Amino acid sequence: MAQLGLRTLIADAGQDRHKMLAGELLHPVAIEELTAFGFREALSTDGAPIVGFAVVDGAKTALLPYAPGNRGLGIEHHALVLPLLDILERRRDVQVRRRTRVNFLSDGPDGVEVTLSSDGRSERVRARMLVAADGRASPLRRAVGIPEEHDRLSTMVGVLVDATALPHAGRGHLFIGGPAPVLAYPISSTRARVMVDLPLGSAPDQVRDPETLSGVPMPLRQAILDALAREAPLVSASETRQLEAAYKGHVVLVGDAAGCCHPLSASGIASAVRDSRALEQAMRTAKNDVPRALAAYARARRPANRTRIALASALYEAFCSETVEMAALRGGLFRYWERSPTGTRISMSLLSTRETRMSVMAREYARVVAHGLVALGVGSVRAVRGPRRAVRAGARLVASALPHVRTAMAGAVEDRILALPPPHAQVPAAAESLGSSRASPSRS
Ligand SMILES: Cc1cc2nc3c(=O)[nH]c(=O)nc-3n(C[C@H](O)[C@H](O)[C@H](O)COP(=O)(O)OP(=O)(O)OC[C@H]3O[C@@H](n4cnc5c(N)ncnc54)[C@H](O)[C@@H]3O)c2cc1C
Repeated sequence: MAQLGLRTLIADAGQDRHKMLAGELLHPVAIEELTAFGFREALSTDGAPIVGFAVVDGAKTALLPYAPGNRGLGIEHHALVLPLLDILERRRDVQVRRRTRVNFLSDGPDGVEVTLSSDGRSERVRARMLVAADGRASPLRRAVGIPEEHDRLSTMVGVLVDATALPHAGRGHLFIGGPAPVLAYPISSTRARVMVDLPLGSAPDQVRDPETLSGVPMPLRQAILDALAREAPLVSASETRQLEAAYKGHVVLVGDAAGCCHPLSASGIASAVRDSRALEQAMRTAKNDVPRALAAYARARRPANRTRIALASALYEAFCSETVEMAALRGGLFRYWERSPTGTRISMSLLSTRETRMSVMAREYARVVAHGLVALGVGSVRAVRGPRRAVRAGARLVASALPHVRTAMAGAVEDRILALPPPHAQVPAAAESLGSSRASPSRS
């Protein structure tokens, strides 16, 4: 916003980032956009380069590469976020208020009124636009009354281990051979983060249960147990939140506030940074006319966000469920990846949000289901033995795929509609005239 000439104030409530289990793997898209926004320095001091993912199911491993020349970054959460604020604080065109909470008061024709509270002091501020980047629980989203669908999925328990314990250097890892996925990635040249996904309602202690870590190979499994004996783990809930609206009046949601999903695709930061770019472009195109820009922003961000949430939900179900059809789907995934180097690249580009089209997700899902049916036919799905069971599992696999393919196809159609120029009727007349009289780029 400051780069567009707008007077900009950032207030951050100042959550202790050292105690947060949150985003630490940045896909190439996130790095490119953060660099373009001027944050290169924050990405070069620490961290480990990432070349793609490794998905490990017992003895089978699939390596999913980023596109040639693309690199991701693993970096400890606080080592990424705190320098971002330091960099902003050094800019002359942005006012940064640390340990300051924003409370929404009202929204009117000229913008919003909020209070900024810090150390028992409170100040009223008016602004033409309030960007609520206040995380998945988003107090501001609740205050303005944007409804959401909310599903709690699991509890994530995270520890730090020696990076050499990871089977594939420089990769994000998904271990799916146990009861639930375990995520791991290097966050520096010497250390790696491991996150174990526990069913809802489990005590974090359950991570020590031998069954829980049964999908993790040695020596990593031992390294996790040693870390748990040494230090208290970090704990966080994983959840899906989906919203129909990304803005209301002059309040716009960005990042997790505008929707989130299970972290197995590590797509949250890439998505948040994409949102920021979409908002910047919408404001630039609308010449800082807030109502017009917010309508355009909501349209622009929707396809990518919807695809990543649908993908993460489908994969999480495939990796966690013990049903025969999901065992067949996992068999189909590995069969597809073994036979198609292009398939491994497309899967990685979907996971990393480089590819955002629902039509591509639908096509890939259908291919995996087809491979799952073949895997059942040739008897290579461990959990399904005998032709009768294979036929039943095949029928269930097709039935379970239908809702996902339907969602993806509906999304693909919506993407096409959203790509059409907006009908003028969608911009309220009042907003239009209000906006055109306030297009000066020097307002806050
Ligand atoms: C266990 C776990 C692992 C994850 N791993 C990855 C990963 O590897 N890669 C990835 O890309 N993503 C990952 N994510 C997701 C990622 O952490 C989020 O997508 C990302 O942090 C979202 O950033 P944000 O800025 O939208 O929100 P947040 O990072 O939650 O930041 C919100 C900020 O708003 C502030 N705030 C809140 N309320 C107010 C208020 N009223 N006034 C002022 N400030 C306020 C808070 O103090 C905080 O600083 C993971 C998430 C979880 C839970």
